[in-house]
Amino acid sequence: MKNSTTLSQSRIGGNGRKQNLYKNVEAQFKKAAEVMGLEKDIAEILATTNNEIIVHFPVKMDDGHVKIFTGYRVQHNNILGPYKGGLRYHPEVEIDEVRALATWMTWKAAINRIPYGGAKGGIHIDPSEYSTAELERITRRFTFALGNNIGPEYDIPAPDVNTNGQIMAWILDTYLTTVPPNERHRCIHVVTGKPIESGGSLGRDKATGQGVVFTLEKWADDKGVDLSGASFMVQGFGNVGSWTARLLCAKGAKMVAVEDVTGCLYAGEGIDIESLLSHVRETGGVKGFSAAAVDHEMFMTTPADIFIPAAMENQITGETAGLLQVRLVAEGANGPTTPEGDAVLADRGIDIIPDILCNSGGVIVSYFEWLQNKRSESWDLEEVDSKLKKKICTAYDNVKQTARQYETDMRTAAYIVALSYLETVYKERGIYP
Ligand code: NAD
Repeated sequence: MKNSTTLSQSRIGGNGRKQNLYKNVEAQFKKAAEVMGLEKDIAEILATTNNEIIVHFPVKMDDGHVKIFTGYRVQHNNILGPYKGGLRYHPEVEIDEVRALATWMTWKAAINRIPYGGAKGGIHIDPSEYSTAELERITRRFTFALGNNIGPEYDIPAPDVNTNGQIMAWILDTYLTTVPPNERHRCIHVVTGKPIESGGSLGRDKATGQGVVFTLEKWADDKGVDLSGASFMVQGFGNVGSWTARLLCAKGAKMVAVEDVTGCLYAGEGIDIESLLSHVRETGGVKGFSAAAVDHEMFMTTPADIFIPAAMENQITGETAGLLQVRLVAEGANGPTTPEGDAVLADRGIDIIPDILCNSGGVIVSYFEWLQNKRSESWDLEEVDSKLKKKICTAYDNVKQTARQYETDMRTAAYIVALSYLETVYKERGIYP
């Protein structure tokens, strides 16, 4: 039986994804480096990825035939600490996408002063075409193929699109078989985003959405917006989108439109999140839920206070940014806005909370999970949430203050916060030899 996982394909509004994601990173980086006057040698180092690993590996399918898969792990930079970043299972995973996502991880860790470097990986695969048993074998064989390129003090994967706690548990179990028995208990922090019983942290599941909501609260305070009366729309109803929606609704906001890979819904009076979640669990997507079905263009033109892209990249482009009827774009997804989309949003006076700040709650709580594993501790949810809030709100304040200081936009300011920190560390440590 094939897997019922909702496949995050770019069927809806996905044409923009074809734009090379790494070119977007380069454009954002170049702009920030110029505005802040980043030292040229350090700019060259940071514009380059350290390691790019591509593995081809065989897996036996349920019907007995063998199929070859391609997996990636890109390690961008590790001056601040071990490489850290998610694994994505998607048919459009390719080297430039993984490079871009790995680079953003370096900036996210630096903005939040977390001792991690940036990495990302994935398998070029459509997970809906495989049974659960096949996905387990693919995951285990990929882990084996990566070998010592991952490790609890070297490179630590986590969930991303179409991967979850179960997949992390398979990676953990496979990795531990490669470690001598007397060292296994010291290595469970080789992945984060694990199920709680297998060493995961309370609050990791919702962490990215929770971080989005903490940054939204900061924005709302700044702008005098009452979130309890606010309306919002979400693109992507997976981990990030659904948690953000749940937490915002708990604050009294209403979700007026939602889109996932199966379709789009609209309801001016608000969509009931818990009923929609049950529907998605049963059917694999939002399609067929009791709200008006609309097309992608109608979704994009929904009047709302806040738009939360939480699906794939390159969704807000030079063309589509003109459709939005919102005050704020809070980037739950990585890279949802192209540089051309940024320019249109700026012209139209639409605010942005940039991805490397907005969705960094995931890596922050991954860091907390890693620390708990290393110390054999388990923190309660209040402790995790309050530490997350403190970290991400401090980062938000730094970015806002930097935007003011350099008279620049929030994305460029977020880059400047990250790059200044990395520049300082490079200057202190120097370049070996
Ligand atoms: P997920 O697989 O749990 O959910 C993805 C959702 O997006 C699904 O609802 C899917 O149907 C929808 N989708 C995919 N393509 C779409 C399209 N073209 N149009 C509309 N909907 C589409 O993934 P996730 O973990 O929630 O990740 C979503 C985004 O958030 C990604 O950009 C990811 O890199 C980023 N992110 C995730 C985390 C995390 O902790 N999971 C952390 C930081 C950033």
